[in-house]
Amino acid sequence: MRLSIIVLAVAATFFAAAGAAKPAPDILALKDATIYVNPTIPPIHNGVILITDGVITAVGKKNAVAVPRNARTLELKGFVVTAGLWNSHVHFFERKWAGAESAPAEELNQQLTDMFTRFGFTSVFDVTSDWQNTKSLRDRIESGEIDGPHIRSTGAGLVAPGALPSDQILNMMGLMKAPLPEVTGPEHATNIVTQSIDDGAEGVKLFAGRSDAPMPDGVIDAAIAEAHRRGKPVFLHPNNGDDVLFALNAGADVIGHTTPHSGNWNDAIFAAITEKRPALTPTLSLWTYYARHDRESTGAKIAATATKQLRGWIAAGGVVLFGTDSGANQYDPMNEYRLMMEAGMSFPEILASLTSAPTEFFGESDRLGVIEVGRDADLVVFGSDPAQQINALGDIRYTLRSGKIIYTAPPPHQ
Ligand SMILES: [Zn+2]
Repeated sequence: MRLSIIVLAVAATFFAAAGAAKPAPDILALKDATIYVNPTIPPIHNGVILITDGVITAVGKKNAVAVPRNARTLELKGFVVTAGLWNSHVHFFERKWAGAESAPAEELNQQLTDMFTRFGFTSVFDVTSDWQNTKSLRDRIESGEIDGPHIRSTGAGLVAPGALPSDQILNMMGLMKAPLPEVTGPEHATNIVTQSIDDGAEGVKLFAGRSDAPMPDGVIDAAIAEAHRRGKPVFLHPNNGDDVLFALNAGADVIGHTTPHSGNWNDAIFAAITEKRPALTPTLSLWTYYARHDRESTGAKIAATATKQLRGWIAAGGVVLFGTDSGANQYDPMNEYRLMMEAGMSFPEILASLTSAPTEFFGESDRLGVIEVGRDADLVVFGSDPAQQINALGDIRYTLRSGKIIYTAPPPHQ
């Protein structure tokens, strides 16, 4: 402590003597790109983005933006830039994340690249993991020691008594042991939610009970009431359409999955969507991933039911937040993009689910989600235009967080 005070004092003296109270700003210019400033308007062609100390300070046509001589530049002719992408349904519960407090930085960097940054994800919502462990990971990212996405987390989700898989099953699934609270009643639920939010969780995750392990009466209502009193969103994992309807009527904010295994959704669900305007992380690719061992026709039928549910959700006026259950699902989001298109979503709608929709839904739209002056420079650079060909969403060249390049695509093979 004493040493750092001396260092600070010496530094202050030096800067005072040199008359340089502040270091020169760091300016990065992204030049000559096609820029989707937000999903609702056509892109700027031959555009320039200036980033000063991590914040967007200019965006426009290249003849309208003067690039300062001291700026570092990234030439992006033929490339496309969007706001950084969100995956609003992920989990840091695989064994690879255990011991995040002390795991080697290089290894965590590689794991975060494999799971998120190589796909352009700059923000993720973790909706159940060991919160103390995930918090350690988040803190190491935020300190700049390792490169990764912004992490928001619900911490450990609330489950019904007897609903937890055994340690043996968790281990077979590749997951850490789960200290998820088994909730015995409404008061217990309120206490758990209070403690979790006090401990820094930014939302609450509830797992609907099952017939063999039902959630005690009043638990879901109590947890939602306490989360909302604290201004936090509630995510609910449904097992079937009845759970979706129950959760919507109880006031859950985000439905964690479509539910293709219980058949089509009914009119009561769509009426509740229209009334409440909740959000859905569709996780369409999760079902085809689970069905990978089944006959082709079985997987196709499940995918068709899930895409129909998503189509109905949108038609009823629900919000769509891109979410794949990464950690329980495979990491590559391409299959999810294709299935969203099969459900009838356009490129601007898919881009909104990845950028502006989550930032609006989670109250971050003054900081993230669109490319505007004053916003943090969380950006993705694609090799070609995903509006022309959806596969371009898989062609990430750079991922930037607050103006720092946190992923660069390897050079193509010769
Ligand atoms: Zn999940």
